Amino acid sequence: MNAQLITLGCQMNEYDSHIVSSQLVALGIDLVDYPEAADLVLINSCAVRGKPVERVRSLLGRLREMRASRPLLIGLLGCLAQLEEGQRIAKEFAVDFLLGPGALLDLGSALEAGQPFRSLRFQSELDTHIPPPPQGKLQAYLTIMRGCDHHCTYCVVPTTRGKQVSRPLDSILRELDSLLEAGILEVTLLGQNVNSYGLDQGKRVEGTPSFAELLRTVGRSGVRRIKFTTSHPMNFTEDVVLAMRDTPAVCDLIHLPVQSGSDAVLRRMGREYTRERYLEHVALIRRHLQGAALTTDLIVGFPGETEQDFADTLSLYEEVGYDAAYTFLYSARPGTPSQRHFQDLPKEVKVERLKALVEVQKRWALRRNTAYVGREIEVLLRGEAQEPGYLEGHSRAHHPVLVQRSEAVSGPGLYRVRVGHATPHLLFAQAG
Ligand code: SAH
Ligand code: SF4
Repeated sequence: MNAQLITLGCQMNEYDSHIVSSQLVALGIDLVDYPEAADLVLINSCAVRGKPVERVRSLLGRLREMRASRPLLIGLLGCLAQLEEGQRIAKEFAVDFLLGPGALLDLGSALEAGQPFRSLRFQSELDTHIPPPPQGKLQAYLTIMRGCDHHCTYCVVPTTRGKQVSRPLDSILRELDSLLEAGILEVTLLGQNVNSYGLDQGKRVEGTPSFAELLRTVGRSGVRRIKFTTSHPMNFTEDVVLAMRDTPAVCDLIHLPVQSGSDAVLRRMGREYTRERYLEHVALIRRHLQGAALTTDLIVGFPGETEQDFADTLSLYEEVGYDAAYTFLYSARPGTPSQRHFQDLPKEVKVERLKALVEVQKRWALRRNTAYVGREIEVLLRGEAQEPGYLEGHSRAHHPVLVQRSEAVSGPGLYRVRVGHATPHLLFAQAG
């Protein structure tokens, strides 16, 4: 049997897809890159905005056409599968089985079922499940917690991924060991809110350290680079910044999603911090981690966002001067409080504002990236870039970097290189 696994969405889905693909391999199923060559197509879906949901619909439409002329098994996995919206879509396109993001280990049962199958439970086995390490890679994701205890009014994640569950420390460390044995040099610790690792529903889980202690422990493992995402500003604490400062393997990079610069909007979003509090975190980071890269997520056009609210977002951006930002148009997701209670803004208003924000973002990214020109940085190269004569990889601050191939830099690995040129999205570098 051949299977194609399509992964949409965030890094956590990438990690989950690795669990799925290793189960497929264990079941003796071969992975292929095209649906034409597959007997089974699995879509690991994202539901955080309307766009990835549209993407699933169009993929399922194509698969339905293929299925008219030959047998094809289709599974919808991940966040969309967990929602009523996904279940309706699955029915419309006659999907064979649904597995929510907490039920991925039921894949074997789904394939055995031989009839429509659905598992939407949150399996505790996932917390101690250690997938085999990825082969031939130098970078890996490591999920340290699942779910989310926050209730941002626009967000489906607490519904799709359930309450926060921190993985036991020994599972995390055993997985880390297996990654290191397989040659992994960079590990990214994943959670919706890594700062509250070990504090599930506000209570310390026995035997789990704080996130700051976890960083220090992972730092002693011998892994060369540690990154982590995401930090919710509400739970961001000084001990994390100090652990970063004291642990050389932890990269000087913080992704601290602000979402909006306006207190009124933050309140309606249910974000649980103010602009002022957020800026205090930024000041703390700047004080202890000089030169650290700071990135964020921003939602433009949240219901009721006025011109002044949006101006506050722009002024916050200027005040912080982010290295990079993921900017999103607000998307009203079915069943979320903001969709039920607030009126969506006209699309043109949202698009206009997004354009203005992207301009500011590009200007800052160019300014921040240009500051690296002439400097030596460490880059983790993955392999050949599309551009002939270049290898591609990432810096410690997570910039995409293209490095000119040379005798000194000829394949995947960690290198010190000198930045020669910068754009808002890329650093160009060469050996020495
Ligand atoms: N737990 C993480 C983010 C998870 S979702 C955090 O709180 O930072 C990733 C990003 O998607 C969010 O930070 C937010 O900017 C965006 N997002 C989530 N729901 C959205 C929606 N309904 N519309 C637009 N953007 C959304
Ligand atoms: Fe969604 Fe908020 Fe949880 Fe992030 S913290 S996953 S935005 S509810």
